[in-house]
Amino acid sequence: MVKVETLNKSFGDLHVLKDIDMTVKDREVVCLIGASGSGKSTLLRCLNFLEVKDSGTIFIGGEKVEEATHDLNQVRTRVGMVFQHFQLFPHMTVIENIIEAPVHVKKIPKDQAVKEAKELLAKVGLSDKETVYPGKLSGGQKQRVAIARALAMKPDVMLFDEPTSALDPELVGEVLATMKKLALEGMTMVVVTHEMGFAREVGDWVVYMHDGRIVEAGPPEKLFGSPTEQRTKDFLDSVL
Ligand code: ATP
Ligand code: MG
Repeated sequence: MVKVETLNKSFGDLHVLKDIDMTVKDREVVCLIGASGSGKSTLLRCLNFLEVKDSGTIFIGGEKVEEATHDLNQVRTRVGMVFQHFQLFPHMTVIENIIEAPVHVKKIPKDQAVKEAKELLAKVGLSDKETVYPGKLSGGQKQRVAIARALAMKPDVMLFDEPTSALDPELVGEVLATMKKLALEGMTMVVVTHEMGFAREVGDWVVYMHDGRIVEAGPPEKLFGSPTEQRTKDFLDSVL
């Protein structure tokens, strides 16, 4: 479970997150939608403690996480993150990319890490790419490796920041299918996406952000089918 209470974040004079309240229950998929600059990435980055919030409370796995008293590197191992640009290590093979953090951060024996990495590669449909370097992969394959790499830490929750928006259109489907599979297996997920079809089909809950605030949130059929707020309607008219 991930929970945020009255979260605020500014960059200098720019108030980017304004009193954000959000709960992601275990096994739930929450899709974050909203215009460019509305604060979606900043919210994800606060959940992963890549940004330090100004005020508010963040709970990860039911535990209140305080920057002052928690080892944030330890907390980050429980929060997997997949970015728009895959950020794989180019000088390491696919399997080396996946075992890097389990072996060096979590201190898992290498044999075990390799065994688990192979299982993850099978899950994302890339068993044949174990010893390949990222430069030889398509964008969709790189992103699936990035997902496997994040899963290798056995996180409580996975955060996705527009994981398909840098991909050629024909590669989007394979990554969304991998994410859908994860969702069906019960992974708790927060997904920033422009893929409204994915949000509608896979999301349990859709959150519409505008100008640093949550304007409206609800189940996909409600938010897409009969939004309450004019702003939500205008946004959906512009993207659907
Ligand atoms: P997009 O859909 O384009 O990815 P977003 O909803 O993810 O947009 P954010 O990246 O969270 O938006 O940015 C929200 C606002 O905060 C923007 O005005 C952005 O310019 C600003 N911002 C983000 N990161 C920083 C930073 N490190 N320093 C200063 N301003 C920042
Ligand atoms: Mg963003």
